[in-house]
Amino acid sequence: MEPTGQDRADFGPPADGYQRLWTPHRMVYIGGQDKPADSSVGQCPFCRIPQGDDEQGLVVARGQRCYVVLNLYPYNSGHLMVLPYRHVSDYTDLDEAETAELARMTQHAVRVSRAVYAPAGFNLGINQGEVAGAGIAAHLHQHVVPRWLGDANFLPVVAQTKALPELLADTRRRLAEAWDTVDDTVEDTKEN
Ligand SMILES: [Zn+2]
Repeated sequence: MEPTGQDRADFGPPADGYQRLWTPHRMVYIGGQDKPADSSVGQCPFCRIPQGDDEQGLVVARGQRCYVVLNLYPYNSGHLMVLPYRHVSDYTDLDEAETAELARMTQHAVRVSRAVYAPAGFNLGINQGEVAGAGIAAHLHQHVVPRWLGDANFLPVVAQTKALPELLADTRRRLAEAWDTVDDTVEDTKEN
C-alpha cells in the first residue's frame, strides 16, 4: 500500500503503510500505562508533572497559569502540549487570564518549534472528552504537533527504537533553550 500520510490534513496519528509498526507503541497507551485510574487531581499526571523538575517531567516552559510539556507518547517528533496548571477538563472552564496565556504560549510554542525544527506545518488543537480522543480527559491540554512533508514515514521507526527517551530529553532541552531566546516581536520565517 502506498503511504498517504503527507496528504492527511486531519488530526491524529498518521495512517499509512507503516501504521502497523506504530500500533504496538500506541497499544501501551491504550492498554492503560500511565493512564489515571480516575479523573481526580490525585490521579492526574498533568497536575503532578509541574511539581517535579523540568527534565524529569519533560517540561519545556512554565508560565504564570499554564505550562508547556513534551508529549510522552508523541504523534510526531517535537509534539508539545500547552495546558493550565489548574485541573479543569473543559475549555470553557478556563478563566480569562488562563485563556489568554494558553493562547500566547501556544503561539510561542509554534514560533519556538519553527525556530528549532523548521516544520512545514502544524496540527494545533484540543481533544475535549475521551470520546474526542483525549488520553487524559480530566485535564485540558492543547496539542502543538509539528508536521513535515512525509513525516509519517520516519515517525514509527523513531517510536520503535529504545533511543526514544534520549530523543525526548534532547528535544526538551533544545526547545527549552529556545523558549527564552525566540522573540515574539520579530517576524519569523513561516512558510506554512
Ligand atoms: Zn490535573
